[in-house]
Amino acid sequence: MIETLRKKGAGNPLKCVQCGSCTSACPVTLIREDFNPRRIVGSIARFNRLPDQDPWLCSTCSLCSERCPQAVNPFSIIMVLRSVLYENGGEAPLSILKMVEQVRETGLAFPLTPESREKRRLLCLPEAGLSEQGLSEVRRILREAGFK
Ligand code: SF4
Ligand code: SF4
Repeated sequence: MIETLRKKGAGNPLKCVQCGSCTSACPVTLIREDFNPRRIVGSIARFNRLPDQDPWLCSTCSLCSERCPQAVNPFSIIMVLRSVLYENGGEAPLSILKMVEQVRETGLAFPLTPESREKRRLLCLPEAGLSEQGLSEVRRILREAGFK
């Protein structure tokens, strides 16, 4: 697992000193006792294998990486755990798969509502969206990332 993290350019769990700053910042740990970035990093450093916590619970806020005094980057480690699970045949949650479909169709992670269009208009922002070329590039990236 440590070698996979290194190859994918994620943080290095071996630098972790188990201070717990990541966990004290994590909004998910506040509501889910079974999710703890310090333990995720610690168990990889100790056992060099996939931890038994669900990386899909992470909200991707990145606070853990901002607070880490050792620049371990737990957030990047958790993102790699997701990709390893997915590549090994695990299922991503329905909410993520729906978002991927949305990105594939429109290039945007969230659908534009009439309200958001109006806000953009009031702020003199251009219509949100991608050109055909941009959209085909996004679709190519999704294919290469392994999303069917
Ligand atoms: S903040 Fe960094 S060093 Fe501290 S426990 Fe979390 S990953 Fe380890
Ligand atoms: S990125 Fe994930 S693990 Fe890190 S603080 Fe945010 S929710 Fe917690």
